[in-house]
Amino acid sequence: KDFILFENIVFRYPGKNEAALNNLSLTIPANHVVGLVGLSGAGKSTAIDVLLGLIRPDQGQILIDQTSLTDYNIRAWQNTLGFVPQSIFLSDASIRDNIAFGLPPEEIDEARVKFAAHMANLDELLMKLPDGLETHVGERGIQLSGGQRQRIGIARALYDDAKVLILDEATSALDGITEKVIMDAIHKFSGSKTIIMIAHRLATVKQCHKIYLLEQGCVLDHGTYDELISRN
Ligand code: ADP
Ligand code: ADP
Repeated sequence: KDFILFENIVFRYPGKNEAALNNLSLTIPANHVVGLVGLSGAGKSTAIDVLLGLIRPDQGQILIDQTSLTDYNIRAWQNTLGFVPQSIFLSDASIRDNIAFGLPPEEIDEARVKFAAHMANLDELLMKLPDGLETHVGERGIQLSGGQRQRIGIARALYDDAKVLILDEATSALDGITEKVIMDAIHKFSGSKTIIMIAHRLATVKQCHKIYLLEQGCVLDHGTYDELISRN
């Protein structure tokens, strides 16, 4: 039932005295929207890197559906993840091309691109080019907001049918994860996808089903926004 479990994760970067993750334990239930919140340096990015299999913890383990992540199953796990950094965005390609990024042209499923764009509220933008480019009919490209860039990442993950979406505010160069993107994701995917949102401020992830407050690599408190506000 508990989809993703961080079990007593300890991780120290080489040469550092303080552990970046200091006995971190948390539960991310399947098909819930969960927020990880903390100040810069709290361990959010490191926790995600452990979950993505980019960092091997010194102690503890990640359990996915009660199976420990190991060298043998990490690839299969990574293939179910949709990490949504803004850097995925290709500045010289249409939004449609961004959603279908990396696929051989003959393999692109247009109906699937359209559906992903629709779910991410990008219908009107699908064939647009980013600012600075012109289409073959001389139409000017459009300036994309940070929220729109996040949506392109979400659409890409949806095209791939990712089970888990990770939205990281730290990688958003512009206006970060807008509350609107979060609200839409919650309304559209509630009960069907596991979504992890990383943010600096509690208010950004107010709508999440469950929020973990991180400090110095461990959980300070967890609960709903209202519960956390009443206690902290
Ligand atoms: P944020 O709180 O927005 O994640 P940080 O400044 O804490 O921003 O970290 C941004 C990135 O820089 C992190 O993902 C991490 O990999 C890297 N980083 C942070 N601190 C250090 C450090 N002391 N040495 C090297 N890299 C770091
Ligand atoms: P957050 O994402 O919450 O800002 P991080 O996971 O980036 O926090 O950082 C947790 C701690 O680990 C901080 O003390 C940070 O300076 C340190 N850190 C992060 N990345 C690196 C790195 N690549 N090398 C050394 N220290 C790092």
